Amino acid sequence: MKFYKDHYDVIVIGGALAGLSSALMLADKGLDVLVLERHNLPGGIATSFVRGGMEIEAALHEMMSIGPKENRLKVGKFLDDMGVDIDWLPVPEAYHASLPGLEVTLHPGLERFSREIDEKVPGTYDKVLRLLKLCDEVFNSVNELSIHPMSKAQMLLKHEAFVKTAGYSTKEVIDTFDLPQQAVDLLSPYWIYVGSSFSDLPFTIFSVLMADYVGYGSFIPRKFSHEMSLKMAERAEEMGVQIEYRQHVDKILVRKNRVYGVRTARGDEIYADYVISSAYPNAVYSHMIEPASAVPEEATKMVNARRLGLTAFSVILILDREAEELNIHDYSIFRGDTMDTDVLYDNLAGLGPYRYLTCICHNYGNPDATPPGTCSFSVTVLPRVDGWKEVTADEYDAVKHKVARQVIDDMSAYFGVNLLDHVLEAVIETPMTVAHYTGAWNGCIYGYSHTMEDHIIARLQTAEHEHFIDGLEFAGAHAISGDGMGPQVTNGRKAAKNILDDLAEKEAGKK
Ligand SMILES: Cc1cc2nc3c(=O)[nH]c(=O)nc-3n(C[C@H](O)[C@H](O)[C@H](O)COP(=O)(O)OP(=O)(O)OC[C@H]3O[C@@H](n4cnc5c(N)ncnc54)[C@H](O)[C@@H]3O)c2cc1C
Repeated sequence: MKFYKDHYDVIVIGGALAGLSSALMLADKGLDVLVLERHNLPGGIATSFVRGGMEIEAALHEMMSIGPKENRLKVGKFLDDMGVDIDWLPVPEAYHASLPGLEVTLHPGLERFSREIDEKVPGTYDKVLRLLKLCDEVFNSVNELSIHPMSKAQMLLKHEAFVKTAGYSTKEVIDTFDLPQQAVDLLSPYWIYVGSSFSDLPFTIFSVLMADYVGYGSFIPRKFSHEMSLKMAERAEEMGVQIEYRQHVDKILVRKNRVYGVRTARGDEIYADYVISSAYPNAVYSHMIEPASAVPEEATKMVNARRLGLTAFSVILILDREAEELNIHDYSIFRGDTMDTDVLYDNLAGLGPYRYLTCICHNYGNPDATPPGTCSFSVTVLPRVDGWKEVTADEYDAVKHKVARQVIDDMSAYFGVNLLDHVLEAVIETPMTVAHYTGAWNGCIYGYSHTMEDHIIARLQTAEHEHFIDGLEFAGAHAISGDGMGPQVTNGRKAAKNILDDLAEKEAGKK
């Protein structure tokens, strides 16, 4: 029996959240889909590992766009609709902010969040709530416009808040609310989930972040992020998708500016009408297109012009006590010695000491995350790729342990407990770990930064012109909806939709 069919409708490179979402949507419409994944498991970054007999989350802190069962948001709804049955657990809080002069735990719900900020910074309730409601309005517009594009005139009539704020940075809009600095600081911690400083982050993106996370709360799968990957892969196979693991795609085959297949590292040539790539455009246009002469100059210019987002450094500890006994009281802690995001962004360019940490104690979201009498605690820094790119093989071990020591010592001092005295298992993930396991360009987990120069709205308008090679789509953090596990589902769906639209146009004789 032949391993591969003679021809597929679509080949998807990468069996992580984006690629699997594309596969699910295309299979649902009856297309013949092959997924090729270089690793021996699905999921990419959405994975877990086993140490000391315990399954440990590798990455996920919290998922956006899920929503409770009775009021699912777009990602939760898509997974439900596709029959991917995930046991979602609500995260109990938005975050604990540990910032200069501030120790506050804030909870989801626009009113509750505003009231809790007001308790710490009195007199701010009305303004904070007004700001969050503005975010919510922009968020609803973004959701509607991404499905129903409309003319500028219609947009002005129906989506005034969106249009009015679209050209401004987060800082510019927040400044108009004239809030005390401490209130602004308490509204800022999620900045790291997109990784552009507030003076460079489009308010549109901030709005989506705040309205989704604060308005609806976040969720985690009971069996870690790998529950999503495994169940999506399982469901895709039930729907007829062929998934092959340990198949690294080396080349994307192009003829007359149209893809016609791929070649794997072991030499199999496989043919299809469309290819969806989870590999970064940087990798695709620099060495995956065959022949190399088929790479248009504009494609090279595009990847060179875009700024890569952040990568990740994470220390994951399994500790020999319940969290409370170690003075760990929250699911999520954002800790910084300043909340000036310009200063923090600069700090992320180096190799530490890092000034902004994000920590998770899984047991508060999922009491069964580890056996009784233990807890799981992780400290994550999301550095820029710049500093880590320069680390040589000889320096790697020393740098990795130095940074791990810094972040553990910082959190030990904060809790008043030496965490190192309680370690049962410890794992250090670096940008190199990410690059090694997923092939991500420079270990980048965030795709391209959303900035005022490379604004989401401009990207939406140029998306059509960035289809440099017919039949080639991209799905991953590098695609239009950007980073995060939830947005990968949206990116995957968008790539699938582009193919379905193209097929529909062909059928209608428009192409
Ligand atoms: C420590 C950490 C914490 C995080 N926390 C959160 C969080 O709390 N919430 C959140 O939403 N996001 C979080 N993220 C970010 C999120 O995981 C990423 O933005 C997102 O998963 C990226 O998805 P992706 O599909 O672009 O990439 P990946 O998950 O890397 O998927 C790419 C897939 O393609 C495969 N592939 C690549 N090239 C090839 C090839 N040539 N041939 C075959 N297969 C190939 C890879 O093996 C991989 O499976 C975190 C990330 C890290 C590292």
